[in-house]
Amino acid sequence: MAQRRRRRPARAPKSALGTLIVIILAALVWAGSELGLFDNVTLGPKATPLPGDGLYVTFIDVGQGDSTLAVCEGETLLIDAGVPEAGPEVAEYLESVGVTELDYVVCTHAHEDHVGGLDYILENFGVGTIFAPYTEFDSSGSFTHFEDTAAELGLEITVPPLGAEFTLGGAVFEFVGPVTDWDGDVNDSSLVLRLDYGDDSFLFTGDISDGPLADCAYIGGYDLDCDVLKLGHHGSSTSTDAEILDLTTPEAAVASCGLDNSYGHPHDEVVELCAERGILLLRTDRDGDITLHSNGAEITRITTPSAA
Ligand SMILES: [Zn+2]
Repeated sequence: MAQRRRRRPARAPKSALGTLIVIILAALVWAGSELGLFDNVTLGPKATPLPGDGLYVTFIDVGQGDSTLAVCEGETLLIDAGVPEAGPEVAEYLESVGVTELDYVVCTHAHEDHVGGLDYILENFGVGTIFAPYTEFDSSGSFTHFEDTAAELGLEITVPPLGAEFTLGGAVFEFVGPVTDWDGDVNDSSLVLRLDYGDDSFLFTGDISDGPLADCAYIGGYDLDCDVLKLGHHGSSTSTDAEILDLTTPEAAVASCGLDNSYGHPHDEVVELCAERGILLLRTDRDGDITLHSNGAEITRITTPSAA
């Protein structure tokens, strides 16, 4: 077995680490507001805020690809890490907000723009549980690197059962799809997660197409209604249509895509649908890293100086 050198940060006590992350994220909130950069984009409120510092969700700008970090009360979840070259960028972002360990890592599917940077993340961060839709995938070099790296580090890849729920601090995330066979289309093998914190909710869809996503509700019986929708497949019209927006009814939608990407993501049809329905469309190609904060009753966008 090839020897890989890896940098493992010293394990900090959970409570101290959580406090550090909260302090750094709170400083970003303060910096944004002090500099007049606070966007005042708020969704809600619908209920009484939960005690504690809340849930932070960042759609990390990895160009054409996906990578999302969720942090709640010191616990951390990373969904995808962009293409292989984006691995160090994701690592840099994690370090900038004080994250040295990841409680959960999710690979939504085997395409390079999602799994590509994950082997670098596994090598450089302490990782708890890894979820993916399969444990082997022969025809994707990037997934093989990910799979081999996990094995070398003695980490297991877990295929989550549908409906499985996990706590992330005071938040809960649940695997709600896919519920149907993906039938050769790797995009449709994407794990679909919903994340709930108090009355606020986020839906992460990988690159799943609109039909299989709708089936999570129609066949699986899962509630797809959310406040923030990570648009499937970087805002492609193959993932988002009127029916999906009827099922999800988001107040904000996020397209994770590269500037002037050759696919034309997000597609005009999706941009128009969002505009018609008054859905706030956020885009990593224009907005850079996008951080949203939930207090369990209201979601606020944090604009950091670097993303301004
Ligand atoms: Zn993709």
